[in-house]
Amino acid sequence: MKINDIYNSIYELINLSNIDSSVIGYSTFNRPIIAFHIGSYDGKQMFMEGGIHAREYLSTLFLIEEIKYLNDLFINNKLVGGYYVVPMVNPDGIALVLDGESSVDCEIQREILKLINNGNDFSLWKANGLGVDLNVNFNAEWGKGDQNLFCPSSGNFVGYYPESERENRVLIQYCKNINPDITISWHTKGEIIYYGFYTLSAVSLERDLKIATKISKVNGYPVVKTQGSVGGFSDWVSLNLDVPAYTIEIGNANIPHPLGIENLETVFNQNKDVPIVALNQV
Ligand SMILES: [Zn+2]
Repeated sequence: MKINDIYNSIYELINLSNIDSSVIGYSTFNRPIIAFHIGSYDGKQMFMEGGIHAREYLSTLFLIEEIKYLNDLFINNKLVGGYYVVPMVNPDGIALVLDGESSVDCEIQREILKLINNGNDFSLWKANGLGVDLNVNFNAEWGKGDQNLFCPSSGNFVGYYPESERENRVLIQYCKNINPDITISWHTKGEIIYYGFYTLSAVSLERDLKIATKISKVNGYPVVKTQGSVGGFSDWVSLNLDVPAYTIEIGNANIPHPLGIENLETVFNQNKDVPIVALNQV
């Protein structure tokens, strides 16, 4: 699988009937970041994102399938509310994982990335094209995480300041515009539902745990309260929108990164009804 294969699958979604799509911005290396809306604009709205960590591109493949699934239900009048989805937040990072250094046009940047990565095997890369981990770059208790790094790296570098990265600013702007009622961020791996940023009130925590328990009944994953991680997208949602925000880790913990397309059928069957059940609870 190459980055162009993923883009081709995303472009095929644009042609489906009843789906709205838009380019909401561009990555650091100018790849389009594409958003979809499935279902009705009336009623409650969910926002979902995937592919923010490069080696976790299985989450992008899952969301591509999920968009088709939700749209089929909508066409058959079996969907309530609407779903905004950005399936690939970090295309530059995913291009590095799938296509290696040849995915980077600029020669100097290629050499810098190989230094950061300590070699030319990018299969375990998490960050974007500048070596910033996008899911610790959001303005939500930024830089206070247990595993935060303060220098470019294949993962965990928080950036030089909150929301320094183009991809993060694109996502935040979009999310503020659509003002969702609930959000789910899809990652790999471990089969876990994370909820409960530490700044949340007791009332919000109780609200979020209740829905997490319903999600757990669908996919069978345990519910775990987040601890020691900050600056993530779900953290930003909890802090700024105070709506339920979940990070779901798909894929069995025993399978090594990067989890490939051979895992898609299993994770799709486990999770395809998670967004529907979750949105029905808000
Ligand atoms: Zn992740």
